[in-house]
Amino acid sequence: MSNEPHADHEHHHADPSIPAEAAPAPPPRPRVGCARCGYDIAGMRIGEPCPECGTMIQQFPSDSRGNSGMAITSMVLGIVSILGCAFYGILSIIAGPLAIWFGVKAKRAVREGRAAQSSAGMATAGFVCGIIGTTIGAAYLLFMIVFVGFAFFAASQSGGPQFVPTP
Ligand SMILES: [Zn+2]
Repeated sequence: MSNEPHADHEHHHADPSIPAEAAPAPPPRPRVGCARCGYDIAGMRIGEPCPECGTMIQQFPSDSRGNSGMAITSMVLGIVSILGCAFYGILSIIAGPLAIWFGVKAKRAVREGRAAQSSAGMATAGFVCGIIGTTIGAAYLLFMIVFVGFAFFAASQSGGPQFVPTP
C-alpha cells in the first residue's frame, strides 16, 4: 500500500494581489442582419445583394428598428383616422394629427439616415392618410354639431318632444 504524502502538501493559495485573467474583453460586434431574411451581412457594403436571399442591402439596420416603428405607427394611425369617422369623427381628429406628426418624424428620420429607407413609403402613407382622416373627421364632426344643434333648436322652438337624430 503506497502512501502519497506529497499530495497533501500541494496547497494552491490564490494570491489576491495578482488579478486573475485581466485581459479586456473585446466589445461584442453588433449583429447586422439582412432586412428580409436576417442573414448576417456584417462587413458588406450598401448596394450589395444579400448572399442568402439576394435582397439589395439598403442600410445597415443597426438602429432602424425603433425608428421604422414611427412609420408603422403613422400608417396605422392614418388608417384609423380614416376608418374612425364612424364615431362622430372624434377618433379621426385625434388619430389624424398624430398620424401626420409621426409621419413627419419618420420621414425626417429616414432623411437623416436614422431609419431604414424602406420605411419611407409607410411614413408617406401615414402622413397622407392622416391629412385625409383629419379632414373627413373635422367635416363629419362639424356636420354633426350643426345638425344636432339645429335639431335641438328646432325642438326648442316647437316646444315638442326633443328629437335627437341618431347618426
Ligand atoms: Zn437576405
